[in-house]
Amino acid sequence: MSTLLNVCGTFVIVIGFISGIISGSFLGFIFGVIGSVVSSILFFALAKISDVQETILFQLQTNNHSSEQLYKKEANKVCVNCDYRFNSTMSSCPNCGYRR
Ligand SMILES: [Zn+2]
Repeated sequence: MSTLLNVCGTFVIVIGFISGIISGSFLGFIFGVIGSVVSSILFFALAKISDVQETILFQLQTNNHSSEQLYKKEANKVCVNCDYRFNSTMSSCPNCGYRR
């Protein structure tokens, strides 16, 4: 995804330069280049955002997985009142509130 956006950004810069040169005037060239640079900055920013988002999603999944394992490891206390499995560090049942 980010590669595609980077390619689009570079492509927009090239198009801006070409259209600036084709326009023939100095002002047209400047506007073409500035316009293409501004649009390509948007593409590059989106590429960066999607990169960061993928990293965050990966870290969240890893974190979720490890906390699930931790929960499974610690969910070994069974409530005498309602048979609900919960964390052994808790002093009372989160399901019915039974305290032994
Ligand atoms: Zn209970």
